[in-house]
Amino acid sequence: MEEKLIKKLMASIKCGVCGQQYEIDNIEILGHEENLWFLRVVCVACQTQYLAAAVIKDGKMPEIITDLTEAELDKFRKIEGLTADEVLDMHNFLKGFDGNFTRIFNQKQA
Ligand SMILES: [Zn+2]
Repeated sequence: MEEKLIKKLMASIKCGVCGQQYEIDNIEILGHEENLWFLRVVCVACQTQYLAAAVIKDGKMPEIITDLTEAELDKFRKIEGLTADEVLDMHNFLKGFDGNFTRIFNQKQA
């Protein structure tokens, strides 16, 4: 699927913090594994950055699996003693695509 179309679909999603609709220019595609796409989105209104995983199928609205903010991801990176809720969040985030997540980001950074 074309990245332009992915961005167009994502632009129909609203920011979870302030409700502002995302803009195509502020959506960055990080990578994808078949229908599972990883995107970085910045809200134009509140400047919140998200890392989102979305299942996108031909011609259908994207199904957002997660939208972790940058701050939340930083938290996961920095702290060693996670709370139960945080572990649960991360578990939900990774559920269904095991090692693929890590692999995709490693590829992107390489
Ligand atoms: Zn916002």
